[in-house]
Amino acid sequence: MLKSLLSGAFALATFTLNANTLSPIGESLNMENYRQDVKTLASDEFEGRAPLSEGETKTIAYLIKQMKGMGLEPAFGHSYTQKVTLAKITADQNMSLKMGDLTLTNGTEFVARTEQITDQILLDDDVVFAGYGIVAPEYNWNDYEGLDVKGKTVIVLVNDPGFASQDKEFFTGNAMTYYGRWTYKYEEAARQGAKAVFIVHETMAAGYGWGVVQAGGTTTKFTLMDSNNNMSRVGVMGWMHLRAAEKVFKAAGMDYREMKAAAGKRGFKPVDMQLDAQLTLKNAIEKAESLNVAGIIPGSETPDEWVAFHAHWDGLGKGLENGKEVILNGAIDNATGVAGVLELGRVMKAMSNKKPFKRTLMFGAFTAEETGLIGAEHFARNLPIPKDNLIAFLNTDGMNVNNSVDYVLRYGGGVSELDDYVEKTASKQGRHIKPDPRPQNGLFFRSDHFALAKQGVPAVLFMSLGDTDASFIAKRYHKSGDDYFESWTLDGVKQDLDLIGQIMAELANNGDYPKYYDGVSFGN
Ligand SMILES: [Zn+2]
Repeated sequence: MLKSLLSGAFALATFTLNANTLSPIGESLNMENYRQDVKTLASDEFEGRAPLSEGETKTIAYLIKQMKGMGLEPAFGHSYTQKVTLAKITADQNMSLKMGDLTLTNGTEFVARTEQITDQILLDDDVVFAGYGIVAPEYNWNDYEGLDVKGKTVIVLVNDPGFASQDKEFFTGNAMTYYGRWTYKYEEAARQGAKAVFIVHETMAAGYGWGVVQAGGTTTKFTLMDSNNNMSRVGVMGWMHLRAAEKVFKAAGMDYREMKAAAGKRGFKPVDMQLDAQLTLKNAIEKAESLNVAGIIPGSETPDEWVAFHAHWDGLGKGLENGKEVILNGAIDNATGVAGVLELGRVMKAMSNKKPFKRTLMFGAFTAEETGLIGAEHFARNLPIPKDNLIAFLNTDGMNVNNSVDYVLRYGGGVSELDDYVEKTASKQGRHIKPDPRPQNGLFFRSDHFALAKQGVPAVLFMSLGDTDASFIAKRYHKSGDDYFESWTLDGVKQDLDLIGQIMAELANNGDYPKYYDGVSFGN
């Protein structure tokens, strides 16, 4: 999900960890425990931790054993696990897409899949170009105004007009809004009643190459199931290669570049392309259950108010590299995060034995992040406590296993008072806030905390994927090379767990209710 994000050289200021820069929490961390947890979770024995695999069974058993061992109590009533019902959908890749007289080729010119729980979807509808496919009242913007797209096929552009204009007064300029994300495009088209959506892929605007789209669009997918078999979702979730889009616009007597330019200007109106789209999408569907895991340190005064720290446990499992089956061990992404949840859990539990926290602390690891934040979406919609009682959700996805640094990366540009806690606590460590170096890629929308943020729960992302090792993204991210290395100093992990622990301890005792800043919304 994060392919092209973090390449490029970084000048790293070395930063000494000492009593001035670490609190007693950081000083108490046992990094040998941490190392052992990463080594175990990223070992071949755990098979890359794919949901619904033997790797899942071993991971869940390991996490529960560790949580029990450190004295955490079950987070879900009497259970450490929360069932997440998944549908496993495999589309028959033997398909082609007709647009007028054009026939587009699957995989190279378009990809198509669905999250509707249905064996087959037949498209035979009018095609509409709806610009960026955005309805944003706060920007007084509506790409669907004046044209009924019910039951039709819609073509839209990826990212948002702010990115296209690079004008920071327009949307949020170069920084992607949630409106720019592919998930939003499908959600909005569904609200408009469209039957199918094809997003035109452009590498810079999307933040990843066609290869990622192709891989994601032609493989088996997991999705959450709702009581209506996901029928409220758009039927066909598709992408179209730029070259193919140029052909389709030409077939409609239009010029893609001209239409794209028009779509980025105020007053754009959706256009009926006078073309007919035809596609038959056949699906093989299996239903299965994966598991979220979490343990708690119950609070002494307000136990029904929780402060949560989380990292997704799932990985990509096994894959093919150069025609050979490999295990994608997922050490950095995200065994490092899960090990962080475990080791900080141990330290905070020991602290609470001496002096209980007033509020409850939750330590969690959810499933199926890699296939769409699914475990977190399920948790966010099935909270074990009232939503307003979930005070904060701190998420880590890929920790800094190398030397400590004098900054903390901020994603999303600062959206809630929780970001103030991060800044204040970082400065106690002698660190400053550094903005996300790739705001156009919308990283804030691409890990589990966002599922909680969408529900209004204050959430923050801690992520260092490749930040202190520029080669990671290019060479090892989501590949078999994402392994554990003895050479890791783990100083970066130590300072970040210290930071997160201090924030949790403060919120656990101060009775504060951090809020999102006025005007912050996530397109829903
Ligand atoms: Zn991850």
